[in-house]
Amino acid sequence: MVIIERCQKSHSNRAINPVDITRKSADDKTALKLAPEWDWIMGVKNGTMNYKEYIQLYLEKLTELDEQIADWLEAKAGPEKTATLVCYCPDDNVECHTYLAALFFVNRWPPRFQAGESI
Ligand SMILES: [Zn+2]
Repeated sequence: MVIIERCQKSHSNRAINPVDITRKSADDKTALKLAPEWDWIMGVKNGTMNYKEYIQLYLEKLTELDEQIADWLEAKAGPEKTATLVCYCPDDNVECHTYLAALFFVNRWPPRFQAGESI
């Protein structure tokens, strides 16, 4: 079983196996599959999209992913069996997509993934 945590990018040096899943600086091509699209990010910033719409689009994007993404995250978790999803949002921002991504893994592939204390 893999434990998924999340944290702010500026603290990620203290995180176990940090994985950047932001549009701006995602770790790799697969990590980008877990990143929101630029136009959604800008839409929320500009006020042309609300957070509810943003969540809906993001969850739709996640449901298109197959089990390869689970294998990928498990590999990132390494022998520590822990992966930390990283974003620029502060730790107290519950509207961060990392929470949605973490819960997606937990709900889609039980009991492969479990939410850590930060989720
Ligand atoms: Zn975020």
